[in-house]
Amino acid sequence: MRHLIAGLLAASLAIPAAAQALRPDQQAFRALYKELVETNTSVSTGSCNLAAERMAARLKAAGYTDADIRLFPGSIERPQDGGLVAVLKGSDPKARAILLLSHLDVVEAKRADWERDPFTFIEEGGFFYGRGVSDDKAHGAIFTDAMIRLKQAGKPPKRTIKLALTCGEEGGPFNSAKWLVDNHRDWIEAEFALNEGGSGKADATGKPISLAFQAGEKVYQDFTLETRNPGGHSSRPRPDNAIYELAAGLVRLSRNDFPVILSDTTRAYFAEMAKIADAGTAQAITALLANPADAHAESIVSRDPGWHSTLRTTCVATMLDAGHARNALPQRAQANVNCRMFPGESVEKVRGQIVERLGDPSISVTARASENPPTAAPPPPLSPLVYGTAVTLAAKHFPGIPIIPTMSTGATDGRYLNAAGIATYGMPGRFGMPDGNGVHGLNERISVAGVMKERDYLFDLINAYASK
Ligand SMILES: [Zn+2]
Repeated sequence: MRHLIAGLLAASLAIPAAAQALRPDQQAFRALYKELVETNTSVSTGSCNLAAERMAARLKAAGYTDADIRLFPGSIERPQDGGLVAVLKGSDPKARAILLLSHLDVVEAKRADWERDPFTFIEEGGFFYGRGVSDDKAHGAIFTDAMIRLKQAGKPPKRTIKLALTCGEEGGPFNSAKWLVDNHRDWIEAEFALNEGGSGKADATGKPISLAFQAGEKVYQDFTLETRNPGGHSSRPRPDNAIYELAAGLVRLSRNDFPVILSDTTRAYFAEMAKIADAGTAQAITALLANPADAHAESIVSRDPGWHSTLRTTCVATMLDAGHARNALPQRAQANVNCRMFPGESVEKVRGQIVERLGDPSISVTARASENPPTAAPPPPLSPLVYGTAVTLAAKHFPGIPIIPTMSTGATDGRYLNAAGIATYGMPGRFGMPDGNGVHGLNERISVAGVMKERDYLFDLINAYASK
């Protein structure tokens, strides 16, 4: 009880976060987070396995048994790219599990380029510094810490809670989230998963503006466009020309946007945007939500490149390769067209839409093969259970801050889980600053007070989900 009162007093005093003493549970979290950040998990010199082993040791110290924890290696070529899955068994065998997902690997960080050692966890001026403090070891630490606290509570939650710490999200050669989906689906089977990709926005002073709840990601697919021609001597040009034909097709493609598609998430997103947009834009958004075929409204909303991309599949030329000699007519011209497909759209459908826009059957269009071919999975639903609960608790932890459903135009490991039918959501709770907090860049940092609040919010949210 005394402990509780001390906690309440500390929370009510308006002392700057950096000077504020941490609660004992926050000190324990800080130690875990520090250990995770100081374990180098970059592709070149790090090991996800070591980070997974260290988190496993902490879980065991909290009462998890060997049977509750699976440590697994990466591939034969990259054994260090493994991870762990831990399970806290729920009390209701009929209730479906929840999965907490975080990648352990981090983007490369060169000591010479950073102001501080990227693999030393440094607190300075109200921030934690280090590679991965934001992407994605804040989640890794918050989720592992939540598993520990749930175990220590003594009474199991209604639902089973699973934790997956994985490797290879940042472009490493082996992706252990995909490996789990393909080979050990039962280990991570869940009704839904909590992941990165959400967060929120702050202004340059760190003042919170909005929270983002991510439900759905666009899907990456490249296409190769090609024209061929017998060619010949460049001193005797002829009307047909591989370069001109390809170029003309690309211009037609650029002038014909793909049709507007709306999902639950993007409808809710634009409805929120209409509330804060200027009157003319708000009117256009409202008209477009009522009638996605309203071309005038669409042209106004599409002026913002982010909104343009949120409204549809986009396909854009990114590379060209043509001709074989300066003094010869081109025998071949090729372009790479990079598409970001609206979730649920198939590669074959999008290929057909490109062919239609090119308007020239002599331009061949082939989907570029990839190691991870996309699946036409629908975006996860904005359900009252998952989304509604996040909104209710956000009002308590972040009063007055709007929570906005978003569809990412980039991608996380959520793509593998969503494709496999495990609805995966990017959690709100962190307020990214306009400079991007050094994520993927230099001097990555996160607000100390911010990450402590995010942890409190996510712990309440996990508990709420686990009891429903
Ligand atoms: Zn990440």
